[in-house]
Order: sequence, then structure tokens, then C-alpha cells
Amino acid sequence: VKVELLKACAEDLDVVNAARVSVDQWHDLMEEGDDKLISYLMRKKHGSPFEHAYFQFRVEAPIFVFREWHRHRVGHSYNEMSARYTELQPIFYKPDEIRIQIGRPGHYRYVPLKPEADAGIIAEAKDIMHGSFEQSWSAYQDLLGLGVAKEQARVVLPVGTYSKMIWSCNPRSFMHFLALRNAPDAQKEIRLLAASAEQHLRSYMPITHAAFVENGRVAP
Ligand SMILES: Cc1cc2nc3c(=O)[nH]c(=O)nc-3n(C[C@H](O)[C@H](O)[C@H](O)COP(=O)(O)OP(=O)(O)OC[C@H]3O[C@@H](n4cnc5c(N)ncnc54)[C@H](O)[C@@H]3O)c2cc1C
Repeated sequence: VKVELLKACAEDLDVVNAARVSVDQWHDLMEEGDDKLISYLMRKKHGSPFEHAYFQFRVEAPIFVFREWHRHRVGHSYNEMSARYTELQPIFYKPDEIRIQIGRPGHYRYVPLKPEADAGIIAEAKDIMHGSFEQSWSAYQDLLGLGVAKEQARVVLPVGTYSKMIWSCNPRSFMHFLALRNAPDAQKEIRLLAASAEQHLRSYMPITHAAFVENGRVAP
């Protein structure tokens, strides 16, 4: 599972200049007061100045993670490997920890089983997952062997199968994604990737990122 920054064209100055064009001003470098301007824009939800920069990532993750990711529609672009044109690889998500859920829908807490106390359940759960992956993979290969098209053979593969995508976003859509996916109630698998992506927002746009955090991680 990984998220890798391919390129970025992003700095805090992009926000400042997008906002200052309203009064026909331009700064070549960050000046005194520019950090306060960014903080003000964030707080007051003046969101559009945060749309003039760009991040591009390559992501490898299981299909169930992509299902969540692709729900983010506004200010995000995606291109994903096609299982119609490309034969998938037998790479499946095999979690180290096994979690149980406690509570009720909307309020679940997800608690990892304890490696020693729950060793039996953990081992059995992993056996079931791995056995299911093997069985599905073998069915996929059998269908391809019969000459069935990849677009149909793939229907037997599980959501734990890995996929790849190119994901691009702007700082505003990025922050909205982070607010929801690098958050305590997000599923751990997407949260870890969102946390890894967030480091790039922090390093390219430190003042914007700090304002986002000060604003309670609410995107403008
Ligand atoms: C913890 C968690 C649990 C979730 N559980 C479920 C679930 O059980 N089932 C499920 O289906 N989804 C679920 N989701 C997905 C969630 O409903 C959103 O689809 C996803 O988080 C993307 O958010 P978004 O729509 O705000 O983002 P984007 O699609 O990027 O939209 C950004 C913003 O643009 C505006 N916008 C976009 N489209 C419209 C529109 N059509 N009309 C009006 N305004 C619009 C809204 O202000 C929106 O916040 C869950 C998400 C999280 C984080």
C-alpha cells in the first residue's frame, strides 16, 4: 500500500496571489501579513484562492480503499489501471492486524485483537482470507484459461485485490479529502495513506497546512 508524490506545483504564495488579484496586487515572495491573510481566508471559507496549485500522486492500494477514495468528486482527477485491458496480479491485501467492531452503526469502535490472547481467532481469520484469495485467483486464472475476456474473468476477484491509480488534486480538494480521510472515524487503511499524502501538503504549503490544522482541519 503506498502513495507516492509524482509532482507538485504548489506554494503558499499561490494562495496569496490568487486572493490579492482582487485588489490588483502581486507578491513575488511571501511578505509580512501574508500568513495572516491565508489564515483569514481559511477561517472565513474563502475557498477559491486555495484551488490554484496542483499535486499529482501515484497510489497503489486494494480496491476497497479506492472505492472510498473515488467518492471524492470535486477537484479530484483519477486514472486507474484497467482490469479490462490488463491482467491483474495476484497481490491481495493481507492485514497484519484483525479488528473487531464494538458498538452500533455510526458509532462503531474498531479494536485490534490482541496477538497473544486472541492468537487462535487471528490465525483462523487470516487463514480464511488467504484461502479465499487463493480460490478467487485460481478461478480467475481458470476463466482466462478458457479464453474468457479479462473484463468478465475479473468478476470473481475480491475487493482486497490491489489496483493502481494516478490521483491529482488541488489544495482545497486535498484538504477536504484529508478532513474526512485522515480522521479518527476513517477506515485505518485509507487513513494511513491520507496521512502519508498529507506530509506533502505540509512540506509544500506549510502556512496553508498550519491554517488548516488551526481551523480544526475544516477545509475552506
Ligand atoms: C467516515 C465515513 C463514512 C462514510 N460512510 C459512507 C456510507 O456508509 N455510504 C456511502 O455511500 N458513503 C459513505 N461515505 C462517503 C461520503 O458520503 C462522501 O461521499 C465522501 O466522503 C466524499 O465527500 P464529499 O461528497 O464531501 O466530497 P466531494 O465529492 O469531493 O464533494 C466536495 C463538496 O462539494 C459539494 N458537492 C459535491 N457534490 C455535490 C452534489 N451533488 N450536490 C451538492 N453539493 C455537492 C459538497 O459540499 C461536498 O462536500 C463515508 C465517508 C466517510 C468519511
